[in-house]
This record gives sequence, C-alpha cells and structure tokens, in this order.
Amino acid sequence: MIIRKFETRQVEIASDVYCDRCGEDMHGGGKFGGLYNGVVGVGAVGSYWSPVFCEGDEYEFSACERCLSDWFKGFKHNPLVKKKESDV
Ligand SMILES: [Zn+2]
Repeated sequence: MIIRKFETRQVEIASDVYCDRCGEDMHGGGKFGGLYNGVVGVGAVGSYWSPVFCEGDEYEFSACERCLSDWFKGFKHNPLVKKKESDV
C-alpha cells in the first residue's frame, strides 16, 4: 500500500546561460527553447601535481558553440569522436 500526499518543493533551475568567454547568451531558442548551445557547467579541479593550477582550486565554465569551435581549432588532436552519419 502506498500512501500519497502532495507537497511543494523548490528546485533550482538555470533560467539562462551566458558564455564565459564572449559573454553571449547561449539560449538555443526556437523549438528547442529549453536547450543551450555549447557546453554548460564544465568543471576542472587543480591537483597537487599541477604546474599550472593551484591545488584544490575549482573551475566551472560554460562556452557557446562558436567559442568552443575556436577553442577546438587550437587543439593538437581533433576532439571529434563521431561524425553524424548523414554528413559522412
Ligand atoms: Zn562564446
């Protein structure tokens, strides 16, 4: 037997996301209005052995597709792992 009741809860939602690099609104718009283009809330943590970041420092960023694409162009290895079949 399940006894049910109603209760009201508050949840935190992202009302909008801006690219941390260029500052543009990342909202997809159109019929996919609830989605954001690019990467949202990607994180990194500095380790004890890092010559660049301080141990324990935490980073979180979001980047729009254009900035992500620009960033990928600077990579020595292409991060693309799968191409859409219709584009092959
Ligand atoms: Zn951007």
